[in-house]
Amino acid sequence: MADAGGFKGGDAGEVKNQILSLLGYMKEFCSLTLKELQGWMEQTSEKAFRAAQIFDWVYGKDAIDFGAMTNVSKELRAKLAGEFAFPILKLVKTQESEDQETIKFLWELPDRKLVESVLILSGDRRTVCISCQVGCPARCAFCASGREGLMRNLSPAEIVEQVLHINQFLKKNGERVSHLVFMGMGEPLENYEAVVKAIDIFHHPEGLNISQRRITVSTVGVVEGIHRLAKEELKVNLVLSLHAPNQNIRKKIIPYARKYPLEEVLMAMDEYSRQTKRDITYEYTLLAGINDHPKNAEELAKLLNGKQCTVNLIPYNPVDGLRLNRPEKTTIEDFRFILEEAGINTTWRYTKGKDIAAACGQLAQLNKPSENTLALVP
Ligand code: SAH
Repeated sequence: MADAGGFKGGDAGEVKNQILSLLGYMKEFCSLTLKELQGWMEQTSEKAFRAAQIFDWVYGKDAIDFGAMTNVSKELRAKLAGEFAFPILKLVKTQESEDQETIKFLWELPDRKLVESVLILSGDRRTVCISCQVGCPARCAFCASGREGLMRNLSPAEIVEQVLHINQFLKKNGERVSHLVFMGMGEPLENYEAVVKAIDIFHHPEGLNISQRRITVSTVGVVEGIHRLAKEELKVNLVLSLHAPNQNIRKKIIPYARKYPLEEVLMAMDEYSRQTKRDITYEYTLLAGINDHPKNAEELAKLLNGKQCTVNLIPYNPVDGLRLNRPEKTTIEDFRFILEEAGINTTWRYTKGKDIAAACGQLAQLNKPSENTLALVP
């Protein structure tokens, strides 16, 4: 691993912003939609078109400082700086994988809690894996993020700024973030409003202008959240963390399955697919001796028979202290073969960033930034 370097966060102004926003005196700039900023402009006797201008600086030109907005009057810049906390995330450290294709960012929040994002470089794609909560309420048996349970939700600004800062980081190579996945720490549908607001800022043409086709939300299966998302005027990709071919196995590894039975979750996903005309992806983390038997693959094929879907197989990524194992390669290949023979489109997630613990399910809340116990599964 190596320090990605050249990108430092945290000066006196930032610290002041963090403290003031923590005390609740200041609103967070990146929690505002364009409409809300237009409303603020009108209330404060500014011209509404200024809102689009400010948005263009922040989301189009990657300015992370009101002072940089040279075509905005000094008075308005001072007014904005007095009213809004921006930026609020402080970069603690970056780590780059040896193959230089995965970079992990550790952020400090205004209340000093820590979260991570992972940037994955793959061909032309610049994908950011975003966190939406500190900790996670889902507490899946194989995942590091939920081991301490949920600490708190992230605000929209805390979600949006992860991408803004990474755009800044990419800027030196003339690149921008192209794809977003809510697969970092947290359960997006348990922080519904903040996630939907962040998505609005991500895809809005005056915001980051990232197509909804390039935004993916991954859920453990929160049924009412799936229904609610289906009714939004959004068409983001929704992925279900399925991980089992039946309710019995699912209950053992996913505590949420007790509240949301498999049948109801699958029906909600079908409904989302109908409403949005998006195919469904099911994630299936393969755990040796638990859900990786050929019989499990056969049962999974039956369960998904007739659905327009893809199964994304993720070999388990080791989490410290868990007595779980990744299946042998041949077991994974056999599992995949059975699904494909049954006509089910299958992908096998290539594990990236393993050397920096930047793979699915390995992100955890650190007590000290120096401890390297975070991870996204490869
Ligand atoms: N809460 C959301 C998103 C977070 S995790 C969800 O449950 O979908 C993103 C994906 O990584 C999920 O499919 C999750 O089940 C998977 N994952 C978690 N821990 C893992 C591990 N140790 N190895 C492999 N995949 C894991």
